[in-house]
Formats: sequence, C-alpha cells, structure tokens
Amino acid sequence: MRVQRTILRLVLVGGLAGAVWTTLGQQPRKVDDAALRNAGKTGEEWLTYGLNPGETRYSPLNQINTSNVNRLGLAWSYDVGQGGGTQESTPLVWNGTMYSITNWSITFAVDARTGKEKWRWDPEVNRAAVQPKVCCGVVNRGLAIYDGKIFVPVIDGRLEALDAATGKVLWESRVAFSQDNYTLTMAPRVVHGRVLIGVSGAEYPVRGFIAAYDANTGRQAWKFYTVPGDLSKPEDEAMRKAAATWDPASTKVGGGGTVWDSIAYDPDADLIYFGTGNAGPWPAELRNARGKDNLYVCSVIALKGDTGEYKWHYQMVPGDSWDYDSVQQLILADLNIKGQQRKVIMQANKNGFFYVLDRLNGKFISGQPFAQVTWAKGLDEATGKPIVNPEAYYDKENAALVLPGPNGAHNWAPMSFNPTTGLMYIPNSNGGAFSYATAPDYQHKPGELNLGIVFTNPNAGRGGRGGAGTAAPGGEVATAAARAAATPPPTPPKPVNRKPAPPAIGPEASGANLVAWDPVTQKERWRVRGGGSTGGGTVTTAGNLVFQVLPDGLLRAYSADKGEKLLEIQTNLRTAMGPPMTFMLDGKQYVTVQGGQGAAGSGFGGGSASPILPKLLTFVLDGTARLDPAKP
Ligand code: CA
Repeated sequence: MRVQRTILRLVLVGGLAGAVWTTLGQQPRKVDDAALRNAGKTGEEWLTYGLNPGETRYSPLNQINTSNVNRLGLAWSYDVGQGGGTQESTPLVWNGTMYSITNWSITFAVDARTGKEKWRWDPEVNRAAVQPKVCCGVVNRGLAIYDGKIFVPVIDGRLEALDAATGKVLWESRVAFSQDNYTLTMAPRVVHGRVLIGVSGAEYPVRGFIAAYDANTGRQAWKFYTVPGDLSKPEDEAMRKAAATWDPASTKVGGGGTVWDSIAYDPDADLIYFGTGNAGPWPAELRNARGKDNLYVCSVIALKGDTGEYKWHYQMVPGDSWDYDSVQQLILADLNIKGQQRKVIMQANKNGFFYVLDRLNGKFISGQPFAQVTWAKGLDEATGKPIVNPEAYYDKENAALVLPGPNGAHNWAPMSFNPTTGLMYIPNSNGGAFSYATAPDYQHKPGELNLGIVFTNPNAGRGGRGGAGTAAPGGEVATAAARAAATPPPTPPKPVNRKPAPPAIGPEASGANLVAWDPVTQKERWRVRGGGSTGGGTVTTAGNLVFQVLPDGLLRAYSADKGEKLLEIQTNLRTAMGPPMTFMLDGKQYVTVQGGQGAAGSGFGGGSASPILPKLLTFVLDGTARLDPAKP
C-alpha cells in the first residue's frame, strides 16, 4: 500500500506516464499488516481465511451477479490428491496463485488462472501414530499468508512457514505434540506479524490454548490457556478467575476448551477474538461441575492484539454438559441497533442460539434460536445466560433427549454476512435429537477419547445430523461420538431411564437448511432446504448472491435478498465439500470450491471409503471445461 501511495504521489507531482503505472502495478503486493487490515476490500485476492479481519466472507465483486450467474461453468480443475478425509479448506489467492491444504496437511500452490501446479509439499505426518489422536476426521481448514510466506498448521502439532514462491520450508515451530493428544486443524491467522493458531481435541484429556508465533522466526510470542492447569498455581489473573470455577480433581484430566476454528480481529480496537470448545469429559457430573461455570469453556474470548493479554470473555454455556463448543465462526460488523451504531461480534452457536455481543466489552446485546432448541428455554434478556431446561440435565441414572446434538445447529461450515442485505447466511442443521447419558462405569483413560457418555440410542445419536443432505462428516464432535459409538464399551451400560424431550423453541423446519438471518431483529428472513452445519459453507457477494455448497456435491447460488435459486451445478464430488470462495484475476471473477473425500485412510469421520478423489474446482462465466462424470 505504501508503494502504491508513493507512486500515486509521483504521478500527481511528476506527471509520470501511464506505462510506469502498468509496470509497477504488476509487482506483487506484499502481504503485511496493512494489507491484512485491508484484506477483502477489493475482493481481487483472498488473503485470510474469512476474507477480511472481521471474517464476513462478503466479497465486493459483482461481475457475477443475479443476471448472469446461470452462465457459470468450469474454468479448471486440479486433483488435490488421494485424500483420506473430508475437504474443509478455504483456499487463499495472492499474486495470481492459489494456495490450499488437504488431508494430512499436504499443501499446494497452483496458478489461479489455469490450475497448473506450482509446488506441492507433504509434511510427512506419521499417520499411524497420529490417527488415534484425531478425534474428528483428518482435516485442515486453511492456511495463512504473510510477507512471502505460507503458514501451514500440520495436524501432528507442527507449525511450518513455507516460501510462497517455492514451497520450501523456512522455519518450523512446535505448537503441541500429538502424543499429548493435541492436533491442529484450524486455519492460522496473522495479526501484528504473528501467526495465531489454536489446538483441537477437547474430547481427549487436553488443556486448550491459543498461541502466537513470530512470522519471521517462528519464535513463540505469547500463549493463552483457556482452562486452568494446576489450580493452586494459576499463571495470571485470568487463570486465577478461572480456577475458582473448577473442581480441583477435574482439571488434572484435561479440561478441554480447545480453540479449533474461529479467530476474528478488530484492528481499531486491537482485539483478537476466538471461541473455545467443550469441557472434557462431556457430563458436568464427571467434572463435579454442577453449579460451576468451568471458565473459559464454551466461550468467546477477547485478547489484546499486541500482547495476547486477557481483555474480556463471554461464556455461552456455563458448566457445559452437551459438547456445545462455541468455536464457530465469529463475524464482526457495525450494526444500527435500536437507533444506536454498535460494534458487534456475532456467532451462530452450535447450541442453536444466534448471539450478538458488543465486541468492545463483551456485553450481551441479543440472542435468539435460529434452530430448534430444547436444552434451554431461552436466554436471559439482560445477561444472555441460558435458562437451562431442567430436563436437559442427565446423569448415570437418567438419559436426556436434547436438541441440538453434539454436531450442532451450526458447526465449522462458514456463514457469511452481506452488509447490503444486512443478512447472515447460516448453514444450519435442524432436528435430530441426541440422547445423552453419563457412562455408569466411566473411568478416565489417559491419552484416549474421554467422552464419558453412553450412546443409549445410536440411531438418534449422530448428533443432530438428521435431515436430507447432511451426510457429510467432519464436525469436531459428531465424528468423535460416532467413533465412540463404534467402539463397544468394555462392560454393557446399565439401562437408563429415558426422560422425555423437553419442549422446543425455535424454527420447526427440520433437516439441513440455508438460513438468512437478520441479526438486528434476530429474525429469520428466508430459508431454503440444503446445506447443513458441516460441509454447507457459504460466501456472499455484491452481485446480490449467496453461494452455498451442499454435502452431496452441489454448488448453488441464490439471490442474497430473497433466496431465489439461480444456479445449481452438480460437481460430482458428492461428499465432503469445503466452502466456496471468490476472487478476480485479469478482469475475470472466479468461484472456487474444494471437495471430495478420497479413498484411503479415511478419518474416523470419514464413514465408508469413497471413490471420489478430492478436487479443486474453479468456475467462471461461460467456462467450458468439463466436469468429471458422476461416479457411483
Ligand atoms: Ca467438542
């Protein structure tokens, strides 16, 4: 940006010829703090996971719009590789190159005009050793870029910096060890020249954290734990506060609170925001957590951008018992609420409520169910604390049938916010109640999954995944549940007395949906079938469009204001779709999606082996390349 401004000054002062513009204008723009602050403003490049620091996934591009989106055709495709897990990556585009990541953290760069491979890098993960530590599918959601480097979160706990031009390793840092039950699946983000990354795996005995690494050296700049370690030795004030909310015995076996998906950044306030996962094991009963909040699980936390110090937190689910990770995407916007301009942070939580908070101080503004909810009767109007339905509690004697289940009303599939329509486009799963019951013979197993529940009704049990088009696995938890369900317990569980499901609040339409939600009025504006909380990601554009992928391989476009279906392409990838993204190069707007599951070494969330090898597909107006034919 500084270079551009200097050039502009030269042109204005010295009257340089247009030729100089052209020559200098083709120099790659360096990705620095200023570039990331302005990321997404033109929509030409896609420099960070959620397109911009507020993670809106709103592109100002409008070459593709409601009048011509039906002319979208394939421009090129790239074979991502053998795979062996779901595709969840959002590719980045910089300097005419597309960068993306697939299963086992294999990373590649292709020419964004043609799909021709520039380089490919395999971190050579010890798959046999790491696989048992992967709760929820061998997945990675994305990369980060800064100062000519690509940052790769390797699923086994390494963070790598690659030369963006060549794919050569520049440095390697160790975030965590998979032997300690940590994995890395989220996309890193860069703030103040530091790479931010959190850890996955709250179904294992782990202590969640997020950490920052110097982008030039890989040296750790700071680390923020989300739950206490030794309660008698809190590291700082934030941990002192948290320690008072835990039973002394419980944190010795982990605690959870992993940071595995969202990060957003407000450069003006210099605040970093992220969400935290569930407590472990799941039942509050097994953590002696009745009446205890267990800070900071199931929360949104704000840290100071320059130091990583605690600023505020907001806990969605105090003393969680239902695996309501609150890590889902966080979107920042300035909204006019009751006549006042508010700087807000928004989340469509796994627990079924859509939250609007003041992002400067973490104060609750509003929250309403965007899906059917039975675990709570609503949120307290003043504080936003859940009014938990007593029948949603469970223990060793009593199961509870609850909505949403562990896969969530919304999971990792990205939503998007269009400032013109004022609507949030949420991939949602509605219905599919999950039966929770505490394992009567529970014993902590070091180094293994410790859910602490029995699956009294495996058919109801795949975590709210019910409904058409929601077959894609990959939720942080449902797959863990599926894995646990697939592993018979050593002794048969005692029969439990099933409680009836408590009365539900929220929209009734069941199945997988794309929901257009007005965050100001907290009301649904329109809804269409299809999508789902995993594998149903969206992007919205100034062309009055919303693109959504469906887990069965469809790419659809709707008008953003009314939800009219304008396009449907069967990509024939059929399973495991990453979210769509868009960019512009040489005057052409493109839409890209990475999908397909692959055959070998499917993750625990992978289900049966699929013959559909993963691909990166890029579409353009009047594109004429041929899609692969459908396979069984
Ligand atoms: Ca979880």
